[in-house]
Amino acid sequence: MGLWRAARLGMGLRALGTCRRSCSAAGSAPELYDVIISGGGMVGTAMACALAQDHNLAGKRILLLETGNKKTVTQLPKTYSNRVSALTPGSLLLLNSVGAWDHISSMRYKPFKRMQVWDDCSDALITFDKGDLMEDMGFVVENDVVLSALSKQLEAAADRVEVLYRSRVVKYTWPEAYQSPEANPWVQVALDDGKTLQTKLLIGADGQKSTVRESAGIQTVRWQYDQSAVVATLHLAEPTDNNVAWQRFLVTGPIAMLPLSDTLSSLVWSTSHQHASDLVSMDQETFVDSINSAFWSNENHSELVDTASSMFRSALSFLNPTGTSVRQLPPSVAHIDPQSRAMFPLGLGHATKYVGHRVALIGDAAHRVHPLAGQGVNLGFGDVASLSQHLSEAAFSGKDLGSTTYLNAFETERQRHNIPIMAAIDLLKRLYSTKSPPLVLLRSLGLQATNALPPIKVNYICHYVRPLPRVMQMYVFFKNVVTQSTTVCETLLCAIGCRVSPTKYTVTPLDNIFFEAL
Ligand SMILES: Cc1cc2nc3c(=O)[nH]c(=O)nc-3n(C[C@H](O)[C@H](O)[C@H](O)COP(=O)(O)OP(=O)(O)OC[C@H]3O[C@@H](n4cnc5c(N)ncnc54)[C@H](O)[C@@H]3O)c2cc1C
Repeated sequence: MGLWRAARLGMGLRALGTCRRSCSAAGSAPELYDVIISGGGMVGTAMACALAQDHNLAGKRILLLETGNKKTVTQLPKTYSNRVSALTPGSLLLLNSVGAWDHISSMRYKPFKRMQVWDDCSDALITFDKGDLMEDMGFVVENDVVLSALSKQLEAAADRVEVLYRSRVVKYTWPEAYQSPEANPWVQVALDDGKTLQTKLLIGADGQKSTVRESAGIQTVRWQYDQSAVVATLHLAEPTDNNVAWQRFLVTGPIAMLPLSDTLSSLVWSTSHQHASDLVSMDQETFVDSINSAFWSNENHSELVDTASSMFRSALSFLNPTGTSVRQLPPSVAHIDPQSRAMFPLGLGHATKYVGHRVALIGDAAHRVHPLAGQGVNLGFGDVASLSQHLSEAAFSGKDLGSTTYLNAFETERQRHNIPIMAAIDLLKRLYSTKSPPLVLLRSLGLQATNALPPIKVNYICHYVRPLPRVMQMYVFFKNVVTQSTTVCETLLCAIGCRVSPTKYTVTPLDNIFFEAL
């Protein structure tokens, strides 16, 4: 402890020496922060809120830098934004823990209770609903509403986190991991107004084109998909409960309709760049016809695949009569909000490292995924939960927040979670981009088998709802294989704070032993 204090004192003196030198050079001392977050999108702002809430970090100097203006919604516009996110219950937990969910609830969001995913080339479908697991599968929220809620929380924590809007970072200067005592040990952050700041830890939350990542020399695995996503706000032909999230895998790419209200839904249609730009520029009536036909047309069905998959479905329903799901028909679209059409190019990107000396990457700066599974910002919120917990532990132990011991633990935890999800999303995108009958048959049988076998489906939902530790996932999987029930999974979800109908779960003595062992 004595040695550690001496080292810290030495570092402090070194920093002071550097300050004095830069003071005399520039006329004012660069301010030193414990943490600077570069990028105030949904993920960076959530990170700032999480750090502001943490008691172990009280007294630390934390700063959020954002190029854009502050986004607070004082009066909700009547028209919905075309940028929305389907949030998982895990993301809700995070937003709730930082106090932002109450603001979202008082603005607007739409929960959905069922997801139906089906194939354009066959009858294969999979559904997830409350009968399987829980009441709300997810929540559709406008990105502006999420950001506004988080910004309101930051306002309330102004004494713990400083925020500079309209501040663009133009340069980062990195300290050497092993350097001479005279060198500056901190990350230097130069802003576009000529000001320079320094920080013990820089968190890069500056999106898919992250300059933090680039400047830190962190390699990225990336490729562009041959697709853009077309978004729009859709008016349904008639009001319904509108509590289902629909997604159909077309050969050209997935089309999804996410509920916004009883009469409105949000479209995310991933398709070739050319088709996307045609969809954005065509007249509204033709656009609406294209959407309805994309959800309803069976022109890509093949008789061979339909016959084989119908026989397989009959066999599955014989083996497991309760396993098959009822197909629901999606609502028809009547018209769209005139200004709501827009398109975004799609790609995959993954930073080979999420951390380095005095730097950590979160959100799209670390990983970018295809929107087909609605996971992008959910993965980012998972990063926030993990990094804030590791930084809290470092602060509690009196350790340097830029210490790689804690940063490496964050990286390992998140890469273990994110990489399999990213791989699965990429595989799905590729698997559904073909009309080749053998592959269509294979994927149709796979989808139907997954739909009919509760252990697999429940295990998937557990992962979707909230990342469980691997040991728990294995336990849930094997227990469900043995019992053919979802009760243990529900128990687990309840134990970790998710909302589960109390009539639905039973705790067995074995579960109790397991939970106690944990
Ligand atoms: C069509 C579409 C649909 C999607 N649907 C979903 C969905 O349903 N569910 C889901 O989970 N995800 C979804 N996503 C993904 C989700 O939108 C992204 O993962 C999420 O917005 C990433 O947030 P972020 O804060 O990491 O990055 P960004 O939103 O890109 O924020 C980065 C911020 O950094 C700031 N910045 C950049 N450079 C600097 C600098 N030099 N100095 C200061 N500030 C800087 C920018 O101004 C910006 O505000 C979808 C994506 C698309 C394209």
